Amino acid sequence: MTDIKSLDNTKLQELMISLGEKPFRAKQLYNWLHVRLAESYGQMSNLPLALRERLEKEFPLLTLSQVNRQVSALDGTRKYLFALPDGNLVESVWMQYRHGNSVCISSQAGCRMGCAFCASTLDGLARNLVPSEMLEQIYAIQRDTKQRVSNVVVMGTGEPLDNYENLLVFLRMLTDENGLHISQRNVTVSTCGLVPQIYALAKEKLQITLALSLHAATDEKRSSLMPVAKRYSIRELMEACRFYWKETGRRLTFEYSLIGGINDSDEDAQLLSILARNVGCHVNLIPINPVRERSFVRSKAERIAAFKNKLEKTGINVTIRREMGRDIDGACGQLRHGHLDSGQRGERGR
Ligand code: SAH
Repeated sequence: MTDIKSLDNTKLQELMISLGEKPFRAKQLYNWLHVRLAESYGQMSNLPLALRERLEKEFPLLTLSQVNRQVSALDGTRKYLFALPDGNLVESVWMQYRHGNSVCISSQAGCRMGCAFCASTLDGLARNLVPSEMLEQIYAIQRDTKQRVSNVVVMGTGEPLDNYENLLVFLRMLTDENGLHISQRNVTVSTCGLVPQIYALAKEKLQITLALSLHAATDEKRSSLMPVAKRYSIRELMEACRFYWKETGRRLTFEYSLIGGINDSDEDAQLLSILARNVGCHVNLIPINPVRERSFVRSKAERIAAFKNKLEKTGINVTIRREMGRDIDGACGQLRHGHLDSGQRGERGR
């Protein structure tokens, strides 16, 4: 069955024409779906009743149902657990900043990248999300908060570049002037480093920010944390990043999660600065969120400060990720994993 909410403007127009409708109906429908965030055809008052009934029958609208929502008493951050139409679960987070509201979305139900410190990969990959399922996380949150979302980060569960085609349709629809029209510059896609897809994305010349999860500056150390590092060396990865930077003119973000005694020494900082110096980038240090199933611990505050200092001395632009929703925060992916653990596993079509 055609998922009407995953169709971009052109495809929606083709569909309307194939149904014997005038092209302007596509524009009206797109506006209802992607600007007014309608939840049913019934609301679409400027469409003829017969068309609404036909769409309802032939193209039922996909919706997410809210399974759980936690609201931080500290800063208003909201963490959502949504069920997809087939029962698979995804997490999304809403954060308020001075510059606007930001949503962190999931791109896959589960993940197959196997990073050692990450909770999202503990249950493996269930399936890719389709564009409407990525969009709908943002729409559902905007409906719930009644506030406009200005920034989107694809940093929740899943490896976005492992779901490349759907991601691209999603990015275009999200930033389309006929939709929510979020500025490309306000969208960040985070990857563990799938080299061929980084080249492909660069060639699209979008103005989004690409964040690379680096976490170690040598292949040996990186491989011990991230299985993907066995496929692509840091050298290949840095070449791809340079290509992305040159092709799009956009500086990258290097994400570096600090794990006590593993990747947080002065020498680690020194090696990281050598990599960062050769690409237009900014380094974002993330104090690791301990995951129950893993033994990693967070670096001490003094170590984090010393690491940052060391990088800054070599002229690298560094920030430490501000923690949002500390009181509701399990590590990324723990809400979903916890839910799967408590007896939902198996029912979820895995
Ligand atoms: N697959 C993508 C996006 C999802 S993870 C990627 O790898 O980038 C988003 C970021 O959170 C990544 O940098 C990831 O490495 C990091 N991360 C995952 N688990 C973490 C944890 N327990 N503590 C701190 N950062 C974590």
